[in-house]
Amino acid sequence: MNLIFLGAPGSGKGTQAIRLAEKVNILHLSTGDLLRAAVKEGTELGKKAEGFMKAGELVPDEVIIGLIEAKQASGDLNNGFILDGFPRTIPQAESLDKMFDRVGTKIDNAVLLDVDDEEIINRLSGRMSCSGCQAGYNYPANMPKKEGVCDKCGGELVRRPDDMPDVVKNRLDVYKKQTQPIEDYYRGKGVLLPITGVGVPDEIFSRICEGLKV
Ligand code: ADP
Ligand code: ZN
Repeated sequence: MNLIFLGAPGSGKGTQAIRLAEKVNILHLSTGDLLRAAVKEGTELGKKAEGFMKAGELVPDEVIIGLIEAKQASGDLNNGFILDGFPRTIPQAESLDKMFDRVGTKIDNAVLLDVDDEEIINRLSGRMSCSGCQAGYNYPANMPKKEGVCDKCGGELVRRPDDMPDVVKNRLDVYKKQTQPIEDYYRGKGVLLPITGVGVPDEIFSRICEGLKV
């Protein structure tokens, strides 16, 4: 099964993609996670990406396309995958199609998590994660027992630099301008699967599984 997960920042696509990948035993590939790791390690890729990410802008297409082509070339995409955070622009979607045409693969479904703007802004401004084990928290829906401290490992809870309120607004604008057009791109190909992204995570996960018949 070859899937793409689409949705605004804060739509919950990362959480749901991880769960689904575990359930059907395929690779979960998050370009955001890859880039954040590269920034942390200070690699060439990280140096290229950091400024864009901090400002809530997209990393240039050629940088991110190169990253995905490398994954394909090394065989990582051969046994099913969920691409989470890629493609994010029309040129990225087109180059993905070209790459898959060359090797005879295709996207089975593009799962779109639908959440309205107001809910997105609330979610992102309350999002925190553990600097130790990366566990995610949410104020007020999923609070740690002790403010600022991870329940699981005692690590310090931090906010992603791009979850600061003014950057959040820019990420939403960027999503609307640059990423939303690819919803139509996949709708046109008959593979778009829109899912209501509101409700508790279990409920949303059930909708996704029903939609994909898994
Ligand atoms: P979110 O979906 O919550 O905004 P991600 O973790 O998917 O967060 O991505 C974080 C940041 O990484 C983006 O704002 C962007 O700067 C960069 N990024 C991730 N994927 C891509 C991509 N496919 N193209 C360009 N930039 C990307
Ligand atoms: Zn922790």
